This record gives sequence, C-alpha cells and structure tokens, in this order.
Amino acid sequence: MFRPRRLLSSQSDYICSRCLERGLKFRQKRWLSHAQGRAAQPVAPVLHSISSKHDDNLLRKLFDNPAIFKNYEASSKPLENSSGLFQNKLLTSAGGFRIFAQQSIEKAQIIVERISRAESREELLRVVKDLDRLSDVICQVMDLSAFVRDSHPDRQVVAAANGAYEVMYEYMNVLNVTQGLYHSLKRAMENKEVMSLYSSEEKMVANILMTDFIKSGVSLPLLARQKFISLSNEISKLGSQFVNDLAPATSHLTFDSRSLRGMDPLVIKSLSKNGKTTLTSLDIGMTHAVQMADHETVRREAYKANNTSDKRQIRVLEELLRKRGELARHLGGENYAASTLKDKMAKSPEAVNRFLTSLASAKRPLVQAEYEALKAHKRQHLGKDVNFNAWDYSYYSVKLSDQRASNMYRTDSLDCYFSLGTVIQGLSRLMSQLFGVRLVPQQTLPGETWNNDVRRLDVISEDEGHIAVIYCDLFKRDGKNPNPCHYTLRCSRLIDEVELEEASDMISLARTTAGAVYQLPIIALICDFSPTSTSRPPLLEFHEVVTLFHEMGHAIHSILARTTLHNVAGTRCMTDFSELPSILMEYFAKSPQVASQYARHYETDAPLPQQMFKERISLEASFKHADFNSQIVLSLLDQELHSSLALEKDFNSTSIFHNLERQYNVIPPVEGTSWQGFFTHLFGYGALYYSYLLDTAIADKVWKDLFAEAPLSREMGERYKNEVLKWGGGRDPWICVSEVLKKEELSEGGVDAMKEIGKWGAST
Ligand SMILES: [Zn+2]
Repeated sequence: MFRPRRLLSSQSDYICSRCLERGLKFRQKRWLSHAQGRAAQPVAPVLHSISSKHDDNLLRKLFDNPAIFKNYEASSKPLENSSGLFQNKLLTSAGGFRIFAQQSIEKAQIIVERISRAESREELLRVVKDLDRLSDVICQVMDLSAFVRDSHPDRQVVAAANGAYEVMYEYMNVLNVTQGLYHSLKRAMENKEVMSLYSSEEKMVANILMTDFIKSGVSLPLLARQKFISLSNEISKLGSQFVNDLAPATSHLTFDSRSLRGMDPLVIKSLSKNGKTTLTSLDIGMTHAVQMADHETVRREAYKANNTSDKRQIRVLEELLRKRGELARHLGGENYAASTLKDKMAKSPEAVNRFLTSLASAKRPLVQAEYEALKAHKRQHLGKDVNFNAWDYSYYSVKLSDQRASNMYRTDSLDCYFSLGTVIQGLSRLMSQLFGVRLVPQQTLPGETWNNDVRRLDVISEDEGHIAVIYCDLFKRDGKNPNPCHYTLRCSRLIDEVELEEASDMISLARTTAGAVYQLPIIALICDFSPTSTSRPPLLEFHEVVTLFHEMGHAIHSILARTTLHNVAGTRCMTDFSELPSILMEYFAKSPQVASQYARHYETDAPLPQQMFKERISLEASFKHADFNSQIVLSLLDQELHSSLALEKDFNSTSIFHNLERQYNVIPPVEGTSWQGFFTHLFGYGALYYSYLLDTAIADKVWKDLFAEAPLSREMGERYKNEVLKWGGGRDPWICVSEVLKKEELSEGGVDAMKEIGKWGAST
C-alpha cells in the first residue's frame, strides 16, 4: 500500500511487503498446486438464511464491541472436541502438521506417478489438470503452514507448522526437477491433437508450467544442469546476504545535542549523554534528524549517513546482479530482465522502459510544481534565496504539510468516524452494490481459529450462495507479524467428475447455481490495528482504512475469480497485473461518496463531514508526484541493473543510479552516496519493481472511466468483474484491460500500449 514515506526514510518504497512475498511464492510454487484429500478438507459451506439487514447490523457490532463478539462466539461453542484449525481434522494439535504434510506427499506421489506414465491421448489430456492438482496438494500445506508460522500465538504450533513447511519445500524442489513430469508435459504439448483439445485456460497453464520447468533447469543436460544449480545457489546466498546484512558506510554520528533543535526532545533525550547525542544510521533517530532538524548541516550529514552503503554491500549487490545475468545467459536469454519479463504483462525491458519514461515525462511538470512550492517555502523560511538540496526534501515537505493541515477545517478527529465495524460494514455494502456479494458473520467451531479475537466472515453471493471464507485477524498482539497481509490459504478451482468420484466425501466444496463444483477459497486478512478500549470501539486512522480496502481488494480477486485451474486462480495472475484490484480499492476508500454511505461517528452516529474528508484526501496528495517520481527512478534503476550492463567489466551500480537521478529527478544526487545498497527489493522483485506503478496507472484509468462518476454502479461493477476479476490469471491481462476500458487497440500489448499507459499515469 501507499505508506507515509516521508515518515519512514528518505527513499523507502511503495510496495506492500505481502505482494513481494506472494510474487516469490508463486515463482517457487507454480508446479505445486492442489488436490483433495479425505481427512484434511477444511471448512464446510454453510447455509445462510438470515436477512441481509440483520447481517449488516451484526457486522458492525461484532467488530466494534468485544463483549457482543464474545457472547456470539460462546453461544456457538458447546463442550465438544476441537474441530481442528480451519476445520481441518488433522490440525487439532501441533503433531497434526506432520501427518498433514505426510498424507499430502503420499497423495501427491500417486498423482506424480500417474502423470509420469501418461502416454495415450486420454492420459495426456489429463496431464495439465493433474499437474494443477499436484500443485494444489502442495500449496495447501505450504500456504497454510506459512500462514500459521507467521500468525499463530503458540510457539509449539509455529514450530510444527515450520517443520511441515520445510518438508513440503524440499519435496517441491524435488518435483521441480523431476524428469517424468517435465517429459509428460512436453509430450502433451508436442501432440497437436491433445493441444487442440485443451481449453484456452489449460493451454495457458501448460505454457506457464513449461516456462517454469525451463527456468528450473530440468531440461538441461547433466553438466549444464550442474552449472545451473551452482549459479542458483550462489544467487540465493548473495541475495540473503544483501537483504540481511544491510551495512551503512558510517555506522553512527555524534552531535552536540543543542544543534538538534527541531527534533522531538524526548527522542534526543533518549539518545544523549553529557550533552552529546549519538544517532545510528538507518535508525529512527537519524531519520528524524533528516526530517526535523532545523540546522541544515545536521540534515546534510544525517542524509548522507542514511544514504551511503558500505562498499562491501555494494560489492555483494553487484556480484548478485552479475550472477543473475550469467544465469539468464546460461538458460539462453539475453539478460536477467529480458528473461524475467518474457512471460509478464510487459513482455520486454524495452516496453517497461517505454512505460516508465513516458510516465516520467507526463509527470514532469507536476513534479516540478511541487518542488517549486518547497523551494519557495525554504526561501520564505530562511528569508533568502538558497539552493534546494536532497536533504531538504523531507524537512520542507513535512513542514509544508503541517502548515497546510493547520489551516484546515477541524472540529473533530476523522478517526472517530471510522470504527473498525463501520469500515467492515462499508466494505460489505460496497461489495454488495458492485458485485452482488456480501460479508456475513459466522460463528466458529472450537479450535477453528488460532486466536480468540479472530472473526470469521462468509462471503455470500446473490446467485451462487456461499463462495468463500475470510478469517479476520485484525488486532495487534505480541509476536504477531505487524505487516498488513492477505493470505490465500486455499484457492478456488473447479472439481471435475473424475476427482469427485475419487473423493466422494469432499465436504468443503461450493456448488454453484450452474451445478459446477468449486473448491471453496479460504482467505486470511491480517492487520495490526489497536484493539478497543473499554470506552470506545477500535478507531482506524485513515491510512489504516485505506490498507484494509487494499487487502480486501486482493481478497475480492481470490473470491470472484472463477477459474478451472488453481495455477491461475484469483491473485495468481501475472506479477505485474496482480496489484490492480487492490490499488483500485484504494480509490474506493478515498471516494467521499463511498465513505459517506457508512462512516458514522462512534458516539453520536453523525455522518462524516464531507469537507473534512475532502481536505484530508487533498492533504494525503501533497507531494505525491515527487514521491511517485522517485519510484519511477527506482523502477528504471531496477531495469538497468538487471540489463546486460551487469555483465560488463566496468559495471558500476552507483554511477548508473546517479545518472538516472540526474536525468529524472529534479534535485541532483549527492556525491558519495550509494543508496542502492539499501534497496533490498532489487533482490525480491528482480526487474519487476515497476509493477506497482503499472497497476497504479491502470487502476487510475479504470477508476476514471468506470467509477469516478458513479462509484456504486452495479453495471460498472459487473463490467469490471466480468472483464477482469473473474478471469484471475486465466486470460491475457491485455485482453482484460482492453475489454474493461473498451480500448481494442491495447488488446495485443507491446511497446506502444505500455507507452500509452505511461501517459495515463500523469494524474496518479
Ligand atoms: Zn498489495
């Protein structure tokens, strides 16, 4: 999500950490999807018959009032044995994780053997479906275990989940290089008759799986495969070194405490001794100095300390990039970026660069205007004309934002209108208006959840009934991961007749009105909100409201996608398309019309004052173009560092970064700095950092063309659902974009289409 970047560090990122994790997970796990098992099928669908008005009222109460929630849950829990976590009967105790993993491997092994034997036309016709089931079996264990590892309060359970995860991870690595699987898929894809009988979704998944097989090195002859493995191992080692051993060139700075005027006196006091204050690089104190110290010299030194990496760190980064380039060449590609982008929406480095440079030119005047305002503020502040430098940006943008905020209309805090219950209620109403689905509270069985403040919501569709389960774990607690996250613990997918015969006791399916049977998706939403106090419900700050909408945007993708195969279900679309639904939801959060239909004062029930809300939105937008522009520069940097330049003798990441800054930033780079050494997303995203900007530009256009005038329009909601959401990753994203926007010229994608999207991004 978009975070208040100026309050974090001088150059932090936009990209939600979960999206990074998901991207990695997908690449690792494509092969491994799901199948069904008898003993371990969690969460049965439930009949919901009570009125929607009752559900709507109950939603607000259950999230706002812990006593009501406690009674509600208690009434559902007679004295009986645990149902198992997520109603998975194997998971009634920590020991169950081992059995869950073992049984899944046994099940997977049967599928592996069947796929490897496939020779006849009938057998080959099932290869893609079976590979998808295999993937489903493994993902169900890994996704669930990874989630439990991150979220469960019991350390014994966490250790058991971790064990299950590692067993499956190893098994997955074996499958990734299993010749029998690769050759069967190859046989199927080389058989014209079989290919002609595959559905378009099966063809798409066949191609995705084949690309992943090739990337795993399974198709290489023995010696080449050995080199592939050694390069991959080196990359993984260098990557974790780069991410985990962040080292600034200067570890700390000591200032005379009196020179730190402007900073919070409590922060200074906590870091001072005998009139001297010691600030540690990359730490909160140093960041505060950049943002708040009135003395320009202090800001300059603190800025340099926070933006200069140790030389060793730069060497690790450059070695990592070189090895990635070598690996790409070893697999027959031109460079790492080209190989990575081939199967993404953007398709090529040229297209990404065209998008980013077109976006940068469209933004240029707006960025310039923001800098002019900051320069003018500095001039006014000092009473003379002086240079505006990199270390001035945070300081003056915070100052000017504060000044603007103090001029605004303010009778009450906005937070009072956003109790958690009203926001969840608002989300349900919005989903109902746009897509005909609503959130309905559901009591949990003993042992079904991992903490007693977790709320279960069922997603009920007007046409199809119960279509998904969402577990909401929204309050902070010790030891819990503080990053907002959306986890898909089980994807939606079609269960065909063959499978139904194999496992007749599968209780966990959702039956659609058309009679097709889909696996019920299970989602967990994790946030870090402050729990309620005795006198008032949990109140959200506006940026937390936006976060919740963003996460729900991912969830909606998982809920509404109706794909046959797990490998393209919901959020499992191309990495550079996967943020569109979540970013679009942020636009809904910021729409006064949407907010006004649910936001109410928690004490007086008064509606949200529109003027106050609009002013808050405009304050959020202060300096957004300058912030956005720095993300463009980082995306360009990510491209250049993963280009063939990395394989040249005089490869120098610092000069590449500074050249880009000179070209695209209004303020020139500070000599001697090397911030790229702290840009850890270079490892995680690897040539895909532009994705968030691309999806922001598309979301902005979808918002303007479909929803800006009428954000609650069912007609537009249906159009968006039918042209984008329902396809998950099962249709070329360019077709989704061209159809939803009715712009046929975009249907093939390519360099010109990317350039066009860059132009749309001007106002984002
Ligand atoms: Zn996201």
